[in-house]
Amino acid sequence: MDGSIERNMERLLDDLAGIPLTTVPALVRQKSRDFFWYSPVLNRQLRGKSAEAVVSPRDEADVIRIAAACFRHGVPITPRGGGTGNYGQAVPLQGGVVVDMTALDAIEWQRPGLVRVGPGRKMGDLDRATRPEGWELRMHPSTKRTATIGGFVAGGSGGVGSITWGGLREPGNVAAARVVTVEATPRVLEQRDREAGVVNHAYGTTGLITALEMPLAPAWDWIDLIVAFPTFMDAARCGYALALAGGIVKKLATPIPWPTPASFRLLGEHCPDGHAILIAMIAAPSLAAFKSLLLQHPSGAITYERPSDEAPGETPLYEYTWNHTTLQILKRDRGFTYLQCLHPAARVLESVAEIAALFEGELAPHLEFIRMNGQVTASALPIVRYTTEERLHEIIAAHRERGVSIADPHVYTLEDGAGHKRVDVDQLGFKREADPHGLLNPGKMRSFQAVA
Ligand SMILES: Cc1cc2nc3c(=O)[nH]c(=O)nc-3n(C[C@H](O)[C@H](O)[C@H](O)COP(=O)(O)OP(=O)(O)OC[C@H]3O[C@@H](n4cnc5c(N)ncnc54)[C@H](O)[C@@H]3O)c2cc1C
Repeated sequence: MDGSIERNMERLLDDLAGIPLTTVPALVRQKSRDFFWYSPVLNRQLRGKSAEAVVSPRDEADVIRIAAACFRHGVPITPRGGGTGNYGQAVPLQGGVVVDMTALDAIEWQRPGLVRVGPGRKMGDLDRATRPEGWELRMHPSTKRTATIGGFVAGGSGGVGSITWGGLREPGNVAAARVVTVEATPRVLEQRDREAGVVNHAYGTTGLITALEMPLAPAWDWIDLIVAFPTFMDAARCGYALALAGGIVKKLATPIPWPTPASFRLLGEHCPDGHAILIAMIAAPSLAAFKSLLLQHPSGAITYERPSDEAPGETPLYEYTWNHTTLQILKRDRGFTYLQCLHPAARVLESVAEIAALFEGELAPHLEFIRMNGQVTASALPIVRYTTEERLHEIIAAHRERGVSIADPHVYTLEDGAGHKRVDVDQLGFKREADPHGLLNPGKMRSFQAVA
């Protein structure tokens, strides 16, 4: 940060008069946390970190005032949506203010295949609004019901739907982002198409997003299914075949081995003892084609088949997939953690089998089939019995030696953690323009040096 600017929190708060804010320590601490505790390493490093105030802009004009005032007084800014990130993205490392963006949640317009929306809108609420016109988000994290679209673009990478559309970083998956810079006179920039990548998976270090244009997909009636298999590799083979079947409209193919499903309390009767499962979401008109594909995998038996239901009190099956699988385990035992891997597309099933055998008893595999760079591959979120940080590093190194990419979820800097999720644009160069004093989420973009 520029040493010539004296940090002055008190004067900042005076300058923000009229914008809702709190300095009540318990509330500020609560909004300074996310799901970093998934990682025992981050839990040790980030526990207790807190902002000094939470500011809640009501509109873009408030965001601009906050940006200008923070620049004037040298106060760090950590943007926040739903606070569901896993790598401490929304945890302020150097105090300052958390900027809660959730009030910026209006839909500006919707057209066939495209919606323009405030960053603070929860993705579940967004889909509910666009579905009557026949459209929905192309992809969403399994935290769809609690996370915001701005937090997804700035902190997430992909999820339910990525089997068809790829991850957020794929060209065309974020149409535009409106961004407020942190300067003496903040600018408001419309970043379109590839240029929108400057804020994608940048952890809020490159600007405050005040609007997003998100491409949409046709909304289907989705059917949730569980297919039980005698072995994990049977489930993996079937999931891969489903992923490759271009004519079957789907959103999920998630193989999970026994005993992980034993922790899925509400699904007990549908997860037979000793069996691996494949969770799938299939568009209703493709159900017959999916069942026909299952005939090629005769060891599989459907144990659950219901319309996906997101009503309050209901649990759609996607809340057992992606990082919710890990959460189901952590609810029972905090002695586990996880990894984020990407198997090489050229030898997906061989690579999956190799890793499963290598770490048998220590890692419980869990795959999410996705498209990436035009190829079908498996993203993996294995559950790891945590012993020591050294062992965790050994496991990560062993994956990398075998050609499996790791986006390390046990570090909080972009450079060290984002791995294959990093967007291929010059985020560092953009940050030098948009946040010259390095006030946005300082410490998360390690390679940034403040402009003197
Ligand atoms: C159980 C569980 C399951 C998950 N599953 C998935 C998954 O399937 N796929 C996936 O990608 N992620 C997943 N995640 C991570 C996370 O839930 C998602 O990435 C989610 O979209 C984050 O949204 P949020 O609103 O909670 O963001 P936050 O956690 O509030 O913020 C995330 C990042 O975005 C920044 N940010 C937020 N709003 C703005 C803004 N307006 N302008 C600039 N920066 C901003 C924050 O500073 C932070 O760095 C999961 C997490 C959990 C705990």
